[in-house]
Amino acid sequence: VTATTHSRPIRPTLLVSRLYQPSNLRDVGQDSRLQGEMTCKSQRLMQQAGLIHPSNPGCYYYLPATVRSMEKLVRVIDQEMQAIGGQKLDMPSLCSADLWKTSERWDLMGKELFRLKDRHEGDYCLGPTHEEAVTTLVAHQATLSYRQLPLLLYQITRKFRDEPKPKFGLLRGREFYMKDMYSFDVSEEAAYETYESVCQAYTRLFARLGLHCVQVQADTGNIGGTLSHEFQLPADIGEDRLLVCGNCSFSANVETVSSEITDCPHCKTGTLVESKGIEVGHTFYLGKKYSQIFNASFSNAQNKPCVAEMGCYGLGVTRILAAALEVMSTEEGIRWPGLLAPYQVCVLPPKKGSKVDGVAALADDLVHTLEKAVPCLRGEVVLDDRTQMTVGKRLKDANILGYPYVIVVGKGALEGTPRFEMICQQTDETMFLSKEGLIDL
Ligand code: ATP
Ligand code: MG
Ligand code: MG
Ligand code: MG
Repeated sequence: VTATTHSRPIRPTLLVSRLYQPSNLRDVGQDSRLQGEMTCKSQRLMQQAGLIHPSNPGCYYYLPATVRSMEKLVRVIDQEMQAIGGQKLDMPSLCSADLWKTSERWDLMGKELFRLKDRHEGDYCLGPTHEEAVTTLVAHQATLSYRQLPLLLYQITRKFRDEPKPKFGLLRGREFYMKDMYSFDVSEEAAYETYESVCQAYTRLFARLGLHCVQVQADTGNIGGTLSHEFQLPADIGEDRLLVCGNCSFSANVETVSSEITDCPHCKTGTLVESKGIEVGHTFYLGKKYSQIFNASFSNAQNKPCVAEMGCYGLGVTRILAAALEVMSTEEGIRWPGLLAPYQVCVLPPKKGSKVDGVAALADDLVHTLEKAVPCLRGEVVLDDRTQMTVGKRLKDANILGYPYVIVVGKGALEGTPRFEMICQQTDETMFLSKEGLIDL
């Protein structure tokens, strides 16, 4: 084999000019292009910045930056679910109608269910949630022992719901990603404990993302069961109405509270304050509703078969991403939860032909130094090589795209002790640091 003329580095520098992010950054801040459609800030910013592209109502192309962000979110969710014993699996999206007829939800779900037929005229639906599927799976195991419980199974997959009004981009899609977990326990008491541990895991997850969610009492809807909470992210465009007591810890979705109430039903004295929220997670205690129907049972200490107690727990993965951008971004620029930014750092060399031209190589070198010295930055640093543009214009783009850190490599980089300008976009702070200073941060 003869040597090729170009010797490529093992991993080339990530160049902004090569990123597939078909954007209309000049339109950011203006609604013109999307007028007439049902939009909100996160949808507008995500479309204009080339994060998503609409295909048909409620369905989007998730473009590369979004996929990077989603993969990060999935990693955090996996950590939290596995920390409480969750085991990840993946169930078919194509679901046979038989199971749904058995639970009677084939009719109950009405038009929200995407229905289709196979070549043998068999009825199917595209899974909107998987209680039937997972319960059948667990019922299939004849030898499940009480020693194996609690059993927590979860998946992160596409869900399909024919929403009457898909809108607000990823906030309400017809095809979206959900994390759905299902728990099987030996007793009601044990099931409540599991329920509580999942709620705590959700609380930790949202705290790690920097999202201040409220846990409210919720309606159980057509999923059934007796105890339920929603995790709501306060936002003006939220479609849920929440009541929070100013005096005690009571908080509920209005759906659960009878309309005559004004005083808090818990402490009886506090006044209920109404606000709006985006439902980002939902937990249900199901009892034996599905396990009875599908006969999901285990053998107890006396070797007798007993029906399992169940819970189910959803998180709107794509919705969390959009909701975070909705509450964190400004009208002009995207702001990410630090953990979810598609790229952590953008390095900006000077404009081509400027007097500080020798600095360009330093910028490239900085990318490699950072990636080498700071393991968590590997693959996270991009170089804005569009040097035909002024630094100012590229800074504006960087502001819109919301990289947590932007490093401007200018004249200072050539000084005896080189100085780099670093902008923390999350906090709007600017610092001048040496290379070592950058690495230490
Ligand atoms: P909503 O009240 O907003 O219609 P839901 O109560 O029907 O949501 P659940 O069945 O509780 O939703 O599903 C679990 C989670 O999936 C929700 O808490 C939400 O975060 C997410 N989710 C539900 N529907 C959608 C959708 N159409 N697009 C994106 N995420 C969704
Ligand atoms: Mg719904
Ligand atoms: Mg709801
Ligand atoms: Mg819900």
